[in-house]
Amino acid sequence: MGLANCKGCGRLYNQQTHLDVCPQCRMEEERQFYAVRDYLREHRRSTIYELSDSTETPVSLIIKWIREGRISTSDHPELHYPCESCGAPTLEGKYCKPCKDRLTKGFEQTKQELTEHRNSEQQRGAYYHRRKD
Ligand SMILES: [Zn+2]
Ligand SMILES: [Zn+2]
Repeated sequence: MGLANCKGCGRLYNQQTHLDVCPQCRMEEERQFYAVRDYLREHRRSTIYELSDSTETPVSLIIKWIREGRISTSDHPELHYPCESCGAPTLEGKYCKPCKDRLTKGFEQTKQELTEHRNSEQQRGAYYHRRKD
């Protein structure tokens, strides 16, 4: 602990907790959080982009709150954001389920695998058996 540069505004501040922003930025973040929470209360099926626009809160900040568990995506099923690996809709963590499974299993992630996964995401809903005569 001691003096640190604020991640929000860059000012030097006396860091007394694990937070990486100064008290002013922290207050601003809280203010935005309450605006977001109020908006969600009235718009349960808002998307993350709608929410971001309406509350003037960066999408990255909203994603951070979702990851921290401050915003519950089970109450707001439309609040998904793109998987950092393949861009598929994700409701928790950094990656979608298939990517997370792959990562936890410890498979080597090659570009090839990522491309295949991305393609299969795009073809979602097209899992019909094609019949050839
Ligand atoms: Zn600051
Ligand atoms: Zn993914």
